[in-house]
Amino acid sequence: MSTIEVKELSVVFHKGEREFRALDRVNAVIEDGSFVCVIGPSGCGKSTLLGVLEGLIAAHSGEALIDGKPVTGTGPERVAAFLRRVGLEAVGEKLPGELSGGMQQRVAIARALAVNPAILLMDEPFGAIDAKTRVVLQELLLELWEEDRRKKTVVFVTHDIDEALLLADTILFMKAGTLAETIPVRLGRPRSSGGQITDSGAYGRLRAALVSKFYQDVTDHIGGEEVVL
Ligand code: ADP
Ligand code: MG
Repeated sequence: MSTIEVKELSVVFHKGEREFRALDRVNAVIEDGSFVCVIGPSGCGKSTLLGVLEGLIAAHSGEALIDGKPVTGTGPERVAAFLRRVGLEAVGEKLPGELSGGMQQRVAIARALAVNPAILLMDEPFGAIDAKTRVVLQELLLELWEEDRRKKTVVFVTHDIDEALLLADTILFMKAGTLAETIPVRLGRPRSSGGQITDSGAYGRLRAALVSKFYQDVTDHIGGEEVVL
């Protein structure tokens, strides 16, 4: 049992004299055993949210609870956050040089799961690898999660809409430090990136809605001028 609950969570960073509110009263419930993707533009607070769940970043106000208990640093048996991009680079350095980036990532996934955490926190783990290997790793991760009868709660940060639609039960769409929207992904499982899921009307509609949210955010930033994505 590992339900994550975030209540009125705010995080404030100090930049010199100035305060910057990276998270602003975020509320979310992540159900036990679900696969949640957090998406949103760069700088919207995704990594900060994961940092709080990991116990590395302190709340300014509000709280993050795992199974009803406040997060206070992590025990490795409970939460694994091996798959932050920097974490992976560190893992890679310790592996024989002949292993490809994709193989190193497989090893990192296997290691994270071997610790048998109830919660897996992943921060754009596949961001830096080629498209083909990425698909293999996404499917590997899904397979392992499903083999495990979805006992692990996964919080996976990405800014790739297709990745989120492939993986998630629920998408948390963040915008400027706030949770703008919680979007259920009602697509069947098992899913794979080629085939029925991506061809379905439901997939197309969800994808279009998410793209337009990103587009809206971009136009907000540049003052409403037309942008070609
Ligand atoms: P994301 O992962 O969505 O790209 P982050 O959570 O990394 O965004 O950052 C959110 C905002 O908080 C950004 O504006 C970033 O510059 C700022 N920020 C993150 N970490 C720190 C820090 N340690 N000190 C000051 N500002 C930070
Ligand atoms: Mg980030």
